[in-house]
Amino acid sequence: MKVLSLFGLRAAVQQVIDRAQNPKEQKRIKIAIDLIAIQAFACIGVAIFAALLTGTVDGYYFTSVLIGLTILVAFLILKGYYRITLAFDLISLNILLFFLSQRLGSESGINYYYVAVGASAFTIYGYEEWKTGILMGMLSLILFILSETVSAEFIPHNERFSSAQLGYLSVVNSALTFFISAYCIVMMLKINYDSEKGMLEKQAIIEHQNEELKKANTELDRFVYSASHDLRAPLSSISGLITIMEKEKGSNDAQYIALIKDRVKAMDVFIKEIVDYSRNSRLEPELKEINLPQLTQEIVKSLAYFENAKDIKVRMNVPENFTVHSDNERLRIVLNNLLTNSMKYADLSKEEPFVEVNAARKDAFVLIEIKDNGIGISETHQSKVFDMFYRGTDRSKGSGLGLYIAKEVVQKLGGKISMRSAITEGSMFTIELPAS
Ligand code: ADP
Repeated sequence: MKVLSLFGLRAAVQQVIDRAQNPKEQKRIKIAIDLIAIQAFACIGVAIFAALLTGTVDGYYFTSVLIGLTILVAFLILKGYYRITLAFDLISLNILLFFLSQRLGSESGINYYYVAVGASAFTIYGYEEWKTGILMGMLSLILFILSETVSAEFIPHNERFSSAQLGYLSVVNSALTFFISAYCIVMMLKINYDSEKGMLEKQAIIEHQNEELKKANTELDRFVYSASHDLRAPLSSISGLITIMEKEKGSNDAQYIALIKDRVKAMDVFIKEIVDYSRNSRLEPELKEINLPQLTQEIVKSLAYFENAKDIKVRMNVPENFTVHSDNERLRIVLNNLLTNSMKYADLSKEEPFVEVNAARKDAFVLIEIKDNGIGISETHQSKVFDMFYRGTDRSKGSGLGLYIAKEVVQKLGGKISMRSAITEGSMFTIELPAS
């Protein structure tokens, strides 16, 4: 292959390879083309060596036919007649070797080439077509035995070589045979190795997918259980409140309506969380440059309705033009969930309840910190707050999905989220996102 591409034949060779039905056949075609290139160089090389040895270029009839055959075969293969030409080449090579062997005698080492031709046949046909490989191998074996045992009268013996010269020729031929056979064996091993490696890679992918599937299944089970509870709970409170309102006939309507509103809001938040989760797992991230302070301000503004909001100071320690290369909607979800929590779990008994947003670049990452001096998270809860439906405090009126979704989203963005917290002191959530 590499040798052929030197002569600008790469495109033609590639076309032949592209016609193959599968990667394995492609590899075999590449090997076959390599072997034909080796065949060409071996024929020409040995002919030149023999000519130099004897000092004459007369009498190379069979060698010339061999070289002609190689050129014809290369041409036909490049024309696309791959299979038939290969069989034709192997049969012709065997027959020509028989004639050459009769001309030069077995002392020339010409019979070694039967081994090389047989090995080539096995390599090219492989296990998939082992019967054809064996047939070709048998042809080489039979002609080898005939060459060693029979003397065909109609082929005159070539007397040009002295026995010393035949000895040199034998060395060259055996070395070449060794090289070609070794090449065939290495290629056979390589095909085996490659397909084993491919299988292992596929197995690893399947195992990974299996794990993902298991995780999805467990999540789905827990999800159905908790979601049905979380969706039904506000509905039954609303229905209970309506019953009371009917009984009391309007005396406390305003109070009940406020409670109903509260329940409806909880349901709305929960449904939004489910949608966020589903979007995150279904859609691929759309990366673009996001202005972080601007996005954070938008979220803080949208949280203004929070009952605690007016008592909490939001400190923005992010430079005005700080950008993050990420998915806008996903980053909004994460920041929204973290900032909402900082407000929900604020400690209003402190002198100055605050939420602080910091951002910095570190190597190939962008670090975003959301820090508060809220109620903090006790050590027993810290390892579980990122779990699905986990609520760490009685103060939670939510579904326990906020941090779980934040973790899933950050993972989808190729980053990490971590948390440090001390009960009664406050919490700090750090998001680490790839910078590009
Ligand atoms: P939810 O707020 O709906 O309970 P989350 O997944 O957002 O669910 O949070 C899980 C738990 O983590 C909360 O119930 C709370 O105990 C704890 N938590 C999250 N953020 C904070 C925070 N900033 N300060 C104190 N506790 C927090």
